[in-house]
Amino acid sequence: MKNLYFIGVGLIGGSLAKDIKEHNPDVVIHGISRKDATLEQALSLGLIDKKATLDDIQHADLVVVSIPVDATVKLLPTILDKVSDNGLVIDAGSTKQDICKAVENHPKRRNFLAAHPIAGTEHSGPSAAINGLFKGKTNIICEVEKTAFKLQENALDIFKTLGMRIRYMNPEAHDKHIAYVSHLSHISSFMLGKTVIEKEKNERDIFDMAGSGFASTVRLAKSSPEMWTPIFKQNKTNVIETLEEYINNLSQFKELMKQDDFEAIFDEMKNTNHIKDILKGIS
Ligand code: NAP
Repeated sequence: MKNLYFIGVGLIGGSLAKDIKEHNPDVVIHGISRKDATLEQALSLGLIDKKATLDDIQHADLVVVSIPVDATVKLLPTILDKVSDNGLVIDAGSTKQDICKAVENHPKRRNFLAAHPIAGTEHSGPSAAINGLFKGKTNIICEVEKTAFKLQENALDIFKTLGMRIRYMNPEAHDKHIAYVSHLSHISSFMLGKTVIEKEKNERDIFDMAGSGFASTVRLAKSSPEMWTPIFKQNKTNVIETLEEYINNLSQFKELMKQDDFEAIFDEMKNTNHIKDILKGIS
């Protein structure tokens, strides 16, 4: 693979570009984005070697699509129209059903691999790109059987170079499970941040009391609304289901507090401590 085109050069696209270039210095990384200023920034940070446009992707060996999921759904059919018969297109979107559906009948469906690297930070844009973001992380691949075998192999080589573990899933299962482990965590963090900001807005000093527990729990509330709103929109049904279960748990906790049932509260926390074993080895 020689000519790589990155559509979206923010946190995910930029970090992928950085790692791939580090391991394969001979590749030429071309960047494509809506705003020229974003591409200029990516150039000056060394994330990309050259600026490009969508029409150039006919020359691509690989196209990596890392833009918000609504933009991916809109653009992916055009990307497949333009890519050559041997070009591989990989997306990194956090939802998979709508994206896979958008190209299910495309004549070049076999050139596309649907992926979701489970790695990230709360930062966005080219300046957020970092080396090693994907090392030891899981990459979920959906509908692998719909991608041409040779292109699957090329994709797996790249993911192996980045140090990623692979999990295969269908798009429905992906969206259902990811609603719990990712989408709900973000909503919970956003709403915790909102609750505290609203209560404490006239008492800025109170944030001096905020310890690392507060900081780590609201970390995800710094995430980009441009990226997260389309995710919640595409995964609405699953996200609402997770919210109902979460709100029930919060209400139950409140009831136990009202009833002074601190034994039950102790048990709730003790049972949930089991998360330590579940998350062992995950940073
Ligand atoms: P990001 O840092 O905000 O970068 C996304 C880039 O997409 C921006 O630099 C922006 O460039 C471009 N963009 C924004 N809106 C667009 C639109 N409507 N049409 C075309 N381009 C647009 O976001 P990211 O965190 O890298 O996320 C990229 C993708 O990876 C998303 O699909 C997300 O679901 C997925 N993902 C994210 C994470 C995470 O934790 N952040 C983890 C795994 C997967 P311009 O400035 O030129 O508009």
